[in-house]
Amino acid sequence: MVESNCKNDLLSMTKEKLKEVMEEMECLPYRGEQIFSFLHKNRVKDIDEMSSLPLDLRERLSSEFEIPKAVVIDALHSEDGSSKYLTAFSDGQAVETVVMDYRFGTSICISTQAGCRMGCSFCASSKGGLNRNLTAGEMVSQIYLASDMCGKMISNVVLMGTGEPLDNFCNVLSFYDIITDKSGYGLSNRGVTISTCGLADKIRALADEKKGITLSVSLHAVTDEKRRTIMPIAKKYTLEELVDSCIYYYKTTSRRVTLEYAVMPGFNDALEDVAGLLSISKRISAHINLIPVNSIEKGMSNTDRKNAERFRDELNLRGANVTLRRTLGADIMASCGQLRNTVIASGGKKE
Ligand code: SF4
Repeated sequence: MVESNCKNDLLSMTKEKLKEVMEEMECLPYRGEQIFSFLHKNRVKDIDEMSSLPLDLRERLSSEFEIPKAVVIDALHSEDGSSKYLTAFSDGQAVETVVMDYRFGTSICISTQAGCRMGCSFCASSKGGLNRNLTAGEMVSQIYLASDMCGKMISNVVLMGTGEPLDNFCNVLSFYDIITDKSGYGLSNRGVTISTCGLADKIRALADEKKGITLSVSLHAVTDEKRRTIMPIAKKYTLEELVDSCIYYYKTTSRRVTLEYAVMPGFNDALEDVAGLLSISKRISAHINLIPVNSIEKGMSNTDRKNAERFRDELNLRGANVTLRRTLGADIMASCGQLRNTVIASGGKKE
C-alpha cells in the first residue's frame, strides 16, 4: 500500500500522540495539548505561528516535523446551495469534498483515499484504481478548507467521498479522534458517519472500537449473485457475512446501521427485491436510504426518481424504516469521483 511520503506529519497526530512526542523530546506533555489546539482550534499553518511555545521548541519542531499543505484547486457551486471542492496535496494527489445544506445543519462529504481499489461498477472513483491512502491530516484539511471557503460551520461529516474508509482503517480512526476532540474542532462524536461497501471483518473491528460512529453500508442488491455483478467486494464477503457483521455492529454500539440502496431500473427494483431488502433490514434493525443516482459517463443508467418513489412506497407499505435521499448537486457532478476524473481527463485544467 502506498502511503503519503510525509512521515513526521503533525496534523495527523491525535492529542495523545502529540503528548507522547513531547515526552520523547523531554518536554512536558501539556506542550502536546498546546500544539494540538494551535493546529485544530487556531488552525495555524506554520510552526512559527505557535507563539506561546518556547523558541527552541519551535526550532526543534521545525527541523523534525511539518504541517503538510493542502490547497483547493477547483470549486463548483450548485443552484441548490451545495458546493464541491477539489483539494490537492503536496504530492499532487487531489480528492473531492462536497458541502451540502440540510434542515439539520451543514454536512460535508470527504474522501479517505486518492482513488479506490474496490471497483464498484457504478462509481466514477473506481476507474483509475487506488493511488494511496489519505492521512488523518489530509482528511481534516478537507473540512477546514471547505468550511473556510463556504463560510459555514460543519455539523456532520460523512466519509462517503472517494475511497473505502475501512480500507484505510487506522488513519480513519485517528481522523475521528482528532475531529471530535473538544480542544480542537470539537465535532460531536455522533456527527461522523462512515460509509462502507461492506468489509465485514472491518465492520466488526470498528464495532470493537466503540467510538459511536454511525455506520452506513452500501447494499444495492439483495442476493450474492446480483451483488457480485456490480460490487467485487461481494466476492470476498457473502451477504450472510455482511448481515452478521451489521448485527454485531448494532449490538455492540447500539448505533442503528443504515443500508444504502441505489434503485436501478430493471436491475434491483422488482417486488422480490422489495421483499429481500425488507427482510435484511428487519434482521439488522436497519434504516434504509434509497438513492437517486447521478449519471456518470458509463455504467448504470440514471435512476428514475418516480421509480425510486414507487420502490420506497412498496417498502413503506410493508412497514420498512425507509427514506429517499434528496438529490443535491446534480448540476455540479456531485457523484463521487466525477470532478476529480474531469480534471484528470483535462490534464489538470479547470473545465
Ligand atoms: S463506491 Fe466507494 S467503495 Fe465503491 S469504488 Fe466507489 S469509492 Fe470505492
